Amino acid sequence: MADDCIFCKIIRKEIPSEIVFEDDEILVFKDINPQAPVHLLLIPTRHIETLNDVDQSDQALIGKLLSVAKHLAGEMGVSEGGYRVVVNCNKDAGQDVFHLHAHLLGGRKFSWPPG
Ligand code: 5GP
Ligand code: ZN
Repeated sequence: MADDCIFCKIIRKEIPSEIVFEDDEILVFKDINPQAPVHLLLIPTRHIETLNDVDQSDQALIGKLLSVAKHLAGEMGVSEGGYRVVVNCNKDAGQDVFHLHAHLLGGRKFSWPPG
């Protein structure tokens, strides 16, 4: 836990959020500024700053994060149409919040390559 991290505050329920999934390892909540009809953020409950800070002992956690994303895509009704799971790492990728998170985006058509 990091005292001044906005996502750790969401985990501690000090900041309200619309939670859609929660267990001891992973929290999923709606993005406050959605970029698609479905826009969820999946985060580990342990404070990890970026994907660069993940090591071998986190492999199961990262796998679970993707597996939960797949499950929620189904629940949100975007599995067939398609969806995108995005992890922005550091400044060139536009990471704004330095608590590792995956965006689950769906419900519209996305372009490629990304901007
Ligand atoms: P990044 O650019 O770091 O990959 O994405 C950070 C995301 O967190 C953004 O999509 C932003 O809208 C979202 N976000 C930032 N602060 C909050 C907050 O307090 N609550 C929620 N639900 N989402 C937030
Ligand atoms: Zn944090």
